[in-house]
Amino acid sequence: MMSKKKILTILLCLLTASALCGCRHAAKEANSETAVRTETTTEKVKITADDLAGRKAGSVVTRDELKEIGDTDALFYSEVISDETFARMNGVSFGEGCIVSREELRYVRVLHIGFDGKTHIGELVCHRAVADDFVSVFQRLYERSYPIEKMLLIDEYDGDDEKSMEDNNTSCFNFRPVPGSDHLSQHAYGRAIDINPLYNPYITSDGYTPVNAGDYTDRSKETPHKIDTDDLCFQLFDEHGFFWGGNWNTVKDYQHFQKKE
Ligand SMILES: [Zn+2]
Repeated sequence: MMSKKKILTILLCLLTASALCGCRHAAKEANSETAVRTETTTEKVKITADDLAGRKAGSVVTRDELKEIGDTDALFYSEVISDETFARMNGVSFGEGCIVSREELRYVRVLHIGFDGKTHIGELVCHRAVADDFVSVFQRLYERSYPIEKMLLIDEYDGDDEKSMEDNNTSCFNFRPVPGSDHLSQHAYGRAIDINPLYNPYITSDGYTPVNAGDYTDRSKETPHKIDTDDLCFQLFDEHGFFWGGNWNTVKDYQHFQKKE
């Protein structure tokens, strides 16, 4: 037989144990709440300019991302040709017998406003002598919301200039010997750039390129994305000491800017 006192003591012990257990349970819940809060905080860590370095060129940078990044200066830069970039170029724009070395070239990353009104990441390869000019000109164009539809390495078009122009792609370096000719354009040195080429064709007495630019060959007309001497793009390149192909006498290359020697 258990005495009343013993029964009371056992009951008291059971109650205390249950209370302690309850406390531990509550503590566990609090801990998991903290964990959730920590996870949420991690998700909200700000995006930085560095995070965009690995993003594919052509991608959109959203308005929210731009707001989080704040100052976009760090998104306009040039760098040496990385192994990754060189793998894209080698045997394509960096063809056999290339007259410039990899060390003389630079990879330029900028932002540009596409024809969709959104901010895109642009890229180009150029000679190191003009890399700072391009960074500066494209930063000014971006600040003034100058529309440039696409800016991808010509290697994305198998190094085919016609394909790149037809797609209205802005591009710079491309070394490909012209069959049956020893003439090399300034693009082979990375010192020339073609801007919105579909809307600003290359016109000779024999015709024009790209083939789909027929609506934009009459330069007396007000056509979209037309480069002329009143255009901001012309003015900025002119300030930086570039020739404009639209001012040439024998042929007219309205998309083309090249640095004076
Ligand atoms: Zn050109």
